[in-house]
Amino acid sequence: MTEITPCVVYTNVFLHRLLDDGAAPTTRAERREQAMLRAQAASMCGTCPLLATCLTDAVTRFDVAGFVAGTTRRQRQEIRTRLGIEVSQEDLDAMAGVSAGRQFDRHEIHRLRTANPNLPLSMIAAKIGCSVSTVKRHLRRIEQEGGLPHRAERPRVNAERVLAVAADVRRGSQPGAAA
Ligand code: SF4
Repeated sequence: MTEITPCVVYTNVFLHRLLDDGAAPTTRAERREQAMLRAQAASMCGTCPLLATCLTDAVTRFDVAGFVAGTTRRQRQEIRTRLGIEVSQEDLDAMAGVSAGRQFDRHEIHRLRTANPNLPLSMIAAKIGCSVSTVKRHLRRIEQEGGLPHRAERPRVNAERVLAVAADVRRGSQPGAAA
């Protein structure tokens, strides 16, 4: 059965500009709003049945943008550092295109399409943060090229370990936590 995840339903939260990578609130009200949006998104990810897979993929396989699996991109980089993982140049080569200054991972578009064959392309586009025509273009190219090139196998990291380190990193990011 296809899972409709909170990030697909609540794009008003997950794709809010204050959850973009590097979003810098300029007023106290915006800082409060950003904290509230992060808390809302994290809470929804916390109830998502795909959390463990989503976080493990986002840490060990896909350097996706934005707030994913209860973490910011900076937190995911910190998790990789603690786990001794690097997202290799090979992953960056897989980036399929650039739109409005953002890059999209063709593997991620393909993964979402394969995992959710009945999901409208508009929802995949919303989840990735690109246009429907971008999704269509990449899916067409993948089809024309007879599939995606195989990614080299990476050392497998246990999802439980990723979740535990993520919890540590998030605790360290709480306001008032010891530096
Ligand atoms: S855990 Fe992943 S799939 Fe689930 S709501 Fe969060 S970002 Fe979406």
